[in-house]
Amino acid sequence: MLSVNTPTSSPDLQNLSARDKAVIWHPFTQMQTAPLPIPIVRGEGSVLYDADNRAYLDMISSWWVTIHGHAHPYIAQRISEQLKTLEHVIFAGFTHQPAVELAERLLTILPENQAKIFYSDNGSTAVEVALKMAFQYWHNLGRPRKKVVALDGAYHGDTFGAMAVGGRSAFTAPFTPFLFDVTYLPAPVAGQEDATLKLARELFTDDVAAFIVEPLVQGSGGMVMYEPTVLDELFRLARANDSLIIADEVMTGFGRTGKLFASYYLSEQPDLICLSKGLTGGTMALGVTACTQAIYDAFLSDDKLKTLFHGHSFTANPLACTAALASMDLLLSEETQASIQRISERHARFANRIQGRPTVNNVRQRGTLLAFDLNAGEQTSYFNSIRDRAYNFLLERGVLMRPLGNVLYLMPPYCTTDEQLQYAYDQVEQLLDSL
Ligand SMILES: *Cc1c(COP(=O)(O)O)cnc(C)c1O
Repeated sequence: MLSVNTPTSSPDLQNLSARDKAVIWHPFTQMQTAPLPIPIVRGEGSVLYDADNRAYLDMISSWWVTIHGHAHPYIAQRISEQLKTLEHVIFAGFTHQPAVELAERLLTILPENQAKIFYSDNGSTAVEVALKMAFQYWHNLGRPRKKVVALDGAYHGDTFGAMAVGGRSAFTAPFTPFLFDVTYLPAPVAGQEDATLKLARELFTDDVAAFIVEPLVQGSGGMVMYEPTVLDELFRLARANDSLIIADEVMTGFGRTGKLFASYYLSEQPDLICLSKGLTGGTMALGVTACTQAIYDAFLSDDKLKTLFHGHSFTANPLACTAALASMDLLLSEETQASIQRISERHARFANRIQGRPTVNNVRQRGTLLAFDLNAGEQTSYFNSIRDRAYNFLLERGVLMRPLGNVLYLMPPYCTTDEQLQYAYDQVEQLLDSL
């Protein structure tokens, strides 16, 4: 039998980087200057192994998705069973067990005002669906609203609608003319709360269709963190004008912030919630947009034009839904919940340890996510050279971290052991010494 998991240095694998270069265009990569990609052969827990059997500690959960570690045997077994039963079926006019069970179980763990689950493929599509639901909600009610309020520095995905509601940056510059207008509030970080709330009182008028936000942590914008109290206040201002509130929990969902969802830090509840990334434990691509009964009801009509005309070929793919169910079993287990606490506590201790170091600024933490700014006397920017230095320094020591500009963060899979965490912390400290 052919084993795909045997570590080997066969010429084919050695060659993979060069073959890749000949035919592949990578995401977020300047192909002219980027080094050849590292061929990864297998993964186990928090560790990835390359073609030479070199180990990399995945401290970013492979772009924030791999919450239970790589190639988890339980998720693999569940998907494999599903694969032999039903791999896919059209999701209009048909349904299946994994989709129904996942929706039922998601609704038991999401905030209690959530009533319906709409499936798509990824985080960006989950956001697109939320935006379309919000705009068409107002359209269907016969009171169209066009305005959207978002936060400066927000990231909601790379498709056009998702880009439009994200902060404008070098990444969106070529597309600016094609993005619909959005009104921005400054992120309500410590010290900025009053300024944000003051502006919010002016901006939240009765023509705002939706307020979209990454609750408590703005991920791609640089792990910018702020407090639940001010977000609750923003939610109340939006709600005073009936504006719909979209919580983009694509990154914060499924335990990352220490609670199942960041929304659980709040007293106010969002109307729509976007999920992806950790949803399937990082195994399959799946997106979810959850909404309230009131939103769902606004689409019910004898008039077919009130239908939500949106869908994707792989909507509610049974393998992806099964992966999500298996991931949820693991997530809700006592063992994983204890690990989330354990990692959060260790992060807090490490945060204390590096706080006050001259090469570190703004140490911040929410649950299993720890972030800080590297300070080497340069301006903060994604394109900072300190970013490449830090990335390479850590990679050479077998730690995969991917700074956002000068923002370094640890977002480990929950199965990461204390020893692995300590190893990563030690390498980070050596990096700080070297700056
Ligand atoms: C990653 C991310 C997205 C986009 O998800 P994709 O699956 O990459 O399309 C949207 N919102 C937030 C908050 C994210 O972190």
